[in-house]
Amino acid sequence: MGFRETEEQIALRKAVAELGKRYGHDYTAPLARKREPLTELWNETGRSGFLGLNLPEEYGGGGAGMYELAIVGEELNAAGCGLLMMVVSPAICGTIIGRYGSPEQKQHWLPGIADGSTIMAFGITEPDAGSNSHNITTTARRDGTDWVLNGRKIYVSGVDHAQAVLIVARTEDAKTGRLKPALFALPTDTPGFEYTAIDMDVVMPDKQFLLFLDDVRLPADALIGDEDAALAQLFAGLNPERIMAAAGSTGMGRYALDRAVAYANQREVWGKPIGTHQGLSHPLAKAKVELELAKLMMQKAASLYDSGDDMGAGEAANMAKYAAAEASIACVDQAVQTHGGNGLAHEYGLGNLLIGARVARIAPVSREMILNFVAQFSLGLPKSY
Ligand SMILES: Cc1cc2nc3c(=O)[nH]c(=O)nc-3n(C[C@H](O)[C@H](O)[C@H](O)COP(=O)(O)OP(=O)(O)OC[C@H]3O[C@@H](n4cnc5c(N)ncnc54)[C@H](O)[C@@H]3O)c2cc1C
Repeated sequence: MGFRETEEQIALRKAVAELGKRYGHDYTAPLARKREPLTELWNETGRSGFLGLNLPEEYGGGGAGMYELAIVGEELNAAGCGLLMMVVSPAICGTIIGRYGSPEQKQHWLPGIADGSTIMAFGITEPDAGSNSHNITTTARRDGTDWVLNGRKIYVSGVDHAQAVLIVARTEDAKTGRLKPALFALPTDTPGFEYTAIDMDVVMPDKQFLLFLDDVRLPADALIGDEDAALAQLFAGLNPERIMAAAGSTGMGRYALDRAVAYANQREVWGKPIGTHQGLSHPLAKAKVELELAKLMMQKAASLYDSGDDMGAGEAANMAKYAAAEASIACVDQAVQTHGGNGLAHEYGLGNLLIGARVARIAPVSREMILNFVAQFSLGLPKSY
């Protein structure tokens, strides 16, 4: 077990950090206020080959792994300019298509996902099913060789600037009549597909949407992978999702701590820097310890995933996502506290992060659902629901 990153990983971290520094919080903040995507940064990140690091080289990707993609997610967030759609487009959708798509589907979708010219959103959450994704009711019915989809999705991020959405629907089993999940690549300009932005309090560049699928007709090859193995295919995308969510939270925590430390070293109200007071330095030190622990679990999850240990990665990715969300929330909270009144002034750009960091406690999977997973699968306790 090595705790030292390779030369390539160190160079990647440095290159992404430099890219992030050129954009940073000053670039992100006004766009986030207007709820407009970070298109320039997204495009440059894609052109630099950083968006598709986890995807196969033969389809335009970097042929590296989730560890490398997580470095990109962490470093951009640490610079104050995280790209939310990295969690979705290359990590969830790219992974699922890369693993289970037909050669034609890979050729059609992956090069664009890798260079960023195609953004694929991911729609699983539904208004009534919520966290219980076994209860989704968006259905896909066969009509000749086509599929016809009907249903609703909620809180789906980035649909307005995506070219397609990977929709989790259900098909009817011909033998049993029971519904089973299936995944469909749905181009956003398909007739019958509508979406409307949800008015959210969180200040971030990517909007969340309510999706309406009314008799959306898709050709046979919109079905990704095997109709009978969609659950396994879906799970394949969720470990990368959690690793990237953890990487994003880790980066955001670093960003907040860096800001807090700089301020605590410079601000004086009793004739010496406020960071001298242990009432401030100890919570910052505690936040640092917890952030490093979370980062270590995120790196473990990514390493296990890249080594092909999906089971081990599943547990570690859930724990990492939980720990990084909590650590990042604590870092942001303490950074705001360290700034006193300035912590809530727009100029300092920290107040918004209070909600921004907290998103990770709810999405992509809530804190409680992770604790359910750990209680049941890591500890062997009975399922409570
Ligand atoms: C900013 C943002 C971006 C998002 N982007 C996407 C996206 O791109 N695509 C997508 O599909 N979804 C997206 N989501 C949705 C997100 O995945 C869900 O909000 C999340 O999974 C929780 O589901 P819910 O909101 O329906 O809450 P509910 O399921 O209604 O849960 C409400 C509360 O009850 C708790 N709870 C529920 N069941 C249990 C239980 N069995 N035990 C203990 N507690 C329980 C939950 O933890 C939560 O605290 C996004 C959400 C946000 C906020």
